[in-house]
Amino acid sequence: CGIVGYIGRRDTAPLLLEGLQRLEYRGYDSAGIAIQSPGTGKAAGGLKTAKTKGRVRDLEDRLPKRFAGTAGIAHTRWATHGAPNDTNAHPHLDSAERVAVVHNGIIDNAADLRAKLAADGVTLVSETDTEVLAHLIAAAQAESLEARVQEALRHVEGTYGIAVLHADFPDRIVVARNGSPVVLGIGENEMFVASDVAALVSHTRQVVTLDDGEMATIKAGDYRTYTTEGSRTSSSPETVEYAA
Ligand code: GLU
Repeated sequence: CGIVGYIGRRDTAPLLLEGLQRLEYRGYDSAGIAIQSPGTGKAAGGLKTAKTKGRVRDLEDRLPKRFAGTAGIAHTRWATHGAPNDTNAHPHLDSAERVAVVHNGIIDNAADLRAKLAADGVTLVSETDTEVLAHLIAAAQAESLEARVQEALRHVEGTYGIAVLHADFPDRIVVARNGSPVVLGIGENEMFVASDVAALVSHTRQVVTLDDGEMATIKAGDYRTYTTEGSRTSSSPETVEYAA
């Protein structure tokens, strides 16, 4: 239902919770967050997640005391596949907990993909269509995170707006859109991503709206957009007028 992401120098969790609150008007049944713990490269602290059925307030109450990070993704869920409960709340992780995914939309061939993953020995912990994405990205062979996400998306039929964190690539968030809105918010040495400009206009009015079939990589200091096939797209920010 709602997606918010942040990468920059500020502490991520409060920014993401604030963004989720600005999306609450859309309605949802669960909320969750994943952050990249401090550190760089393979020595990075890894991913930390918290999620719960219920309100953003409930998520806030549930956050561990130490939940610092300078990159993160968050989600409010409107369940389509699997009951609203803590396990089915996003973000979803791969088995090694190196990849975290939040997703809006519906993966039509999820049952097929779940069966294939299970046959490969992967244990699926949730009932969602979304979880397959985390396992597919973790299993992808390509070098870059961008190419791994592209590889995973080639298996997927359906609609998605996704944001992906990977513990081995702590300097970036990769996002993709097909049928579910994704907008980038361009800040000063910080970047935002959201499913709705309402979540980011308190921080920046410089916005890039992705098209279907388009992806983006956001880093603290820059961003780039490209297609799911890998060709670059043009992406000058527009200034949004927004009555708060
Ligand atoms: N289909 C996904 C799920 O049921 C995402 C739902 C949403 O857009 O919030 O978990």
